[in-house]
Amino acid sequence: SMHADLQVMKEAHTLAAETYHNVLRMTEEGAPGRVYAEERKLSAAQLEHFQIGYAPDHWEALTTIFSNKKWSLSLMAQCGLLSARKQAEGYYDLFRHRLMFPVKDGKGQVIAFGGRAIGADQPKYLNSPETPLFQKGKTLFNLHDARSGMRQRDQVILFEGAFDVIAAWQTGVTNAVATFGTALTIEQATLLRRNVSQVVLCYDGDQAGLEATRKAISVLEGVGCEVKICLLPDGLDPDGFIAHHGAQSFRLHLEKELMSVMMFRMHDRRIGKNLQNEGDRLRYIEEVMRDLAKYPQAVTREYYMRQLADEFGLSIEVLREEQTRFRKEVA
Ligand code: ATP
Ligand code: MN
Ligand code: MN
Ligand code: MN
Repeated sequence: SMHADLQVMKEAHTLAAETYHNVLRMTEEGAPGRVYAEERKLSAAQLEHFQIGYAPDHWEALTTIFSNKKWSLSLMAQCGLLSARKQAEGYYDLFRHRLMFPVKDGKGQVIAFGGRAIGADQPKYLNSPETPLFQKGKTLFNLHDARSGMRQRDQVILFEGAFDVIAAWQTGVTNAVATFGTALTIEQATLLRRNVSQVVLCYDGDQAGLEATRKAISVLEGVGCEVKICLLPDGLDPDGFIAHHGAQSFRLHLEKELMSVMMFRMHDRRIGKNLQNEGDRLRYIEEVMRDLAKYPQAVTREYYMRQLADEFGLSIEVLREEQTRFRKEVA
């Protein structure tokens, strides 16, 4: 039956996670995984806590284990652990020679994996495909384990990748989750909203991260989250920032450098403009005023208009007048 099939698929994931983890910890064929884990500065505590493993450089490691258990290999392929051979009969392991991150569902059951290539192999990440157990858009890496920290602080930190969650955990940030490199969905945002009021977006400090931040803000605001943004400098991602600047500096950054959405928009509107240039300056002011017009709270609008007035030597009255016009356009 369907239910029995799901049960075996879950059991297979539990066993796969244990197998990959044991291979990493104590086997000879796990050596490349240990070398890479060391290169990425993963501690023993991180390897244990996230049950990080290594999929050996072998075509039939899990395949053999599942065969011996007399589990249906077709079922094992349906849940993304094996692949069917194209030219011949039989199956082979989907994940080979990768550092493995188990992905859990809301109950803590392993339902998928993220597999990081060792070194420069392509693709850099191989995530489990969509299966009856795992739908990327409805799952968040680390949600099950972060939930108590999230609720305690009424806040979650949202990263782009599992590696960021794992690196942040080592610095004491235990209320963090990640997507799987795909755009944040309404379902994922809803999962967050059920647990916390505030979401801190801490995406990679590159162009892609900035674009993803813009999109995630609207999805999160759409489900009623209070959004803060943590921008990282120099194109670094959270794990890179931690590697370069250290745990202390990262934690300070997360606590002290949070931007409101409006501050982020103002920062964002400045990118690619030269505010010494009159045309750019006027365009900037108009864009910010239009952003502001969408804010229902008069206090918020007034607050940022004062900032504009101060920065550009404008009278607040002129800005108010202009704001009234923009708000009519919005309504
Ligand atoms: P690392 O530090 O190991 O390079 P990362 O988390 O910084 O990892 P990113 O390139 O920022 O990696 O990607 C973020 C997330 O996007 C990854 O965790 C992964 O889930 C997903 N991803 C990245 N590259 C790929 C890819 N080639 N195929 C599928 N998913 C990917
Ligand atoms: Mn990235
Ligand atoms: Mn990254
Ligand atoms: Mn990274």
